[in-house]
Amino acid sequence: MGQLEGKTALITGATRGIGHAMAKLFASEGADVAFVYRNSDDLAASVEDELKACGVRAKAFKSDVQDFQQVQTTVGEVVKEFGRIDILVNNAGITCDGLLLRMGEQQWDEVIDTNLKSAFNFVKACAPVMMRQRSGNILSVASVVGIHGNAGQANYAASKAGLVGFTKSVAKELASRGIRANVIAPGFVVTEMTAKVDPSVVEGWCAGIPMKRGADVDEIARAALFLVSDQSSYITGHVLDVDGGMGM
Ligand code: NAP
Repeated sequence: MGQLEGKTALITGATRGIGHAMAKLFASEGADVAFVYRNSDDLAASVEDELKACGVRAKAFKSDVQDFQQVQTTVGEVVKEFGRIDILVNNAGITCDGLLLRMGEQQWDEVIDTNLKSAFNFVKACAPVMMRQRSGNILSVASVVGIHGNAGQANYAASKAGLVGFTKSVAKELASRGIRANVIAPGFVVTEMTAKVDPSVVEGWCAGIPMKRGADVDEIARAALFLVSDQSSYITGHVLDVDGGMGM
């Protein structure tokens, strides 16, 4: 029997990268999977088919995670379709890098709204559902950058640090209702997001990682599975570094 049999997971940003890897792993562990995306219609349809091939229910929902009202509507549709939400993963995220002195207001707002406000939007919409169920599990995907900072990523670092404080507060507020909330903080992960980075920069990053390589998306997904499964039933408010030793 799969570790997530009988559970419904809602994952934001599962058309590619880390979210896609989590959706596949959770489905292979028996979870029904609802996922949110914004632009990639074709990719979303093929991911939906890929997940259904695991023998679970799966459905893509087109929604902008930045938009409070859209998220309320989307979560309502998910509940109508699946009946419950056991696992929420706040994964959707973007970068829009630049040194502070050159960073525009829009560059700041776009990253904060996509990476941080999105988590508020989804937790606000999902928490009442989870409270009615008297159980639920929230996982947010932060980054080592949120813990240590990074030149050129003040917006991204602030959004990821914000997720940590937000999650710990949610964990304290909702623990007595049977709801856990945790964070994973990946280091460098090989995805389309990081494929945009200059190869010489990537080489420099790898040199600075004790394990001398970036993570495969499946390595992040397996850490996520631990935190959203009953294997971690007494863990809440925790930040799990999955970074090849980068944060030591
Ligand atoms: P990715 O490959 O760029 O995928 C991003 C996903 O988020 C896509 O499915 C995209 O959907 C969705 N998305 C983006 N903006 C959205 C919006 N406004 N509304 C709805 N969906 C939206 O990203 P990734 O590299 O897998 O990263 C996933 C998470 O891990 C992010 O939070 C990132 O910050 C974090 N992380 C990544 C790394 C890394 O090295 N890659 C390291 C640490 C942390 P569409 O395609 O439809 O737009």
